Amino acid sequence: MHSDLHIPSVLKKCIALLHSSATSIHKLKQIHAFSIKHGAHICNPDMGKHLLFTLVSLSAPMSYAHRIFNQIHNPNIFTWNTMIRGYAESQNPKPAIDEHRKMRVFAVEPDTHTYPFLLKAIAKLMDVREGEMVHSVVVKNGFGSLVFVQNGVVHMYAACGRAESAHKLFEEMSERNLVTWNSVINGFVLNGRPNETLTLFRDMVDDGVEPDGFTLVSLLTACAELGALVLGKRLHSYMFKVGLVDNLHAANALLDLYAKTGNIMEAQKVFNEMEEESVVSWTALIVGLAMNGYGIEAINLFKELERKQLKPSEITFVGVLYACSHCGMVDEGFTYFKRMKEEFGIEPRIEHHGCMVDLLGRSGRVKQAYEYIIDMPIKPNAVIWRTLLGACTIYKDTDLAEFARAQLLQLEPNHSGDYVLLSNLYASERRWSDVSKVRKTMLQQGIQKSPGHSLVELGNRVYQFTMGDMSNIQSEDIYVKLIEITKLLRLEGYVPHVANVLADIEEEEKETALSYHSEKIAIAFMLINTPHGTPIRVVKNLRVCADCHLAIKLISKVYKREIVVRDRSRFHHFKDGSCTCNDYW
Ligand code: ZN
Ligand code: ZN
Repeated sequence: MHSDLHIPSVLKKCIALLHSSATSIHKLKQIHAFSIKHGAHICNPDMGKHLLFTLVSLSAPMSYAHRIFNQIHNPNIFTWNTMIRGYAESQNPKPAIDEHRKMRVFAVEPDTHTYPFLLKAIAKLMDVREGEMVHSVVVKNGFGSLVFVQNGVVHMYAACGRAESAHKLFEEMSERNLVTWNSVINGFVLNGRPNETLTLFRDMVDDGVEPDGFTLVSLLTACAELGALVLGKRLHSYMFKVGLVDNLHAANALLDLYAKTGNIMEAQKVFNEMEEESVVSWTALIVGLAMNGYGIEAINLFKELERKQLKPSEITFVGVLYACSHCGMVDEGFTYFKRMKEEFGIEPRIEHHGCMVDLLGRSGRVKQAYEYIIDMPIKPNAVIWRTLLGACTIYKDTDLAEFARAQLLQLEPNHSGDYVLLSNLYASERRWSDVSKVRKTMLQQGIQKSPGHSLVELGNRVYQFTMGDMSNIQSEDIYVKLIEITKLLRLEGYVPHVANVLADIEEEEKETALSYHSEKIAIAFMLINTPHGTPIRVVKNLRVCADCHLAIKLISKVYKREIVVRDRSRFHHFKDGSCTCNDYW
């Protein structure tokens, strides 16, 4: 019949059109309509296959793809893989796993292209149990030695928080390419293991593998976490050499590194030299300025962003609100919060509310902070109550502190910091029996305080010190130095804060003559090992206590050193006896 003869040429034409001119979903829909009109139905497996593939390549909605898929008779493995890929690359990757199951029910055997997409979906979902199952199927089906399938498994384990499993498989691989290295290196960064990240990088260089933009993002992130500025700078010059400074992601990671190591001038420079305008970079610098105590500058940069008519993101506003909070600009904070919702249509998230509670609490409006929490449209989490508890401790509101503590007890019964905060509050009011009650509960429930530690970079290494640390080879010299420091500081009028319980709200034991806090040990170590005038950078995992803060201010004056301490909540730039936080942290 006429139409039967007609179909193959129409079909051929449609497929050719799909390949050459389906550059948008709109065009694709036109070709789809054309094919229906001329009888080349998608139930024809060839037509359906090409239509589906183009659709997924254009990132069309998966509901559309699903409708097409349902009309295809006996879809082959290519078509199934296309569906799995489509879901894996979409916002909702869960159905990729369902499609894979269905495919097995229809007795279609997976091929080598099935697994990379399936594993990608599993990685996004962080469904490690499904991932382990697929891993064993991969091995059983004999795909276990293909490098691109193995890369998928390594990435999946890394994304699911199983850095060890990723690393184990990596070690067993006989062939590795750049993607393999990137997957395992990124795995360690994602799981908060910056030291292992840098060790692996050294192995990678020894193996003669050249890093790319992805590798550098991982490495710079690790350096930022460790405060390893010297290594970061070396990576920066490497980026220059190979032309990666123009890679937006790597440049953003570099900006972030400088901001997080307190090197705000360098961060600003990286920002100025960027060719592409991206909100991510603006946000990184705004947050960096705010964290480093340059609240006014952060706000000014935000105003410039507005003049450029760039669209700020949720995180940009976290930076702006943080800046207001740490500069005591309460009214401005509320104005920005209002504008965020009304002008930019950003629904406040728990982080933004946290900033507002912090803003009120820090300025001493503890009751208002409490009322704010009660009126919040979302359920307050532990961070919010802890912020209030912190403010209550500073401004000595015992009743509210107990209330906040009760909320925390329900939400996070085993968080040691809350016990410490409350115990210190009781101590400040000399309610010793309450203090011992809190401490007893802690012991009974086996709650361990997270020990304080400080990191400093010297040469090619990052050194870690804990409170009262004696493990360093130079321990003896360090303690001699600490005694010298104390003597010199006393001449400057320094009186150790040991009697002042109120100031000590950090989650660390009191310092004694023999047991110095880790940041002081780290600073003594750097004073011994670096030439006069070299700035000292310390990364501390807890808050700096008032005594250390005062001591470091004086050290910066007596020893004429710039000292930058990044603690859990902010940066302190110490110079000539004062700190950029203005003693407000
Ligand atoms: Zn201290
Ligand atoms: Zn400070």
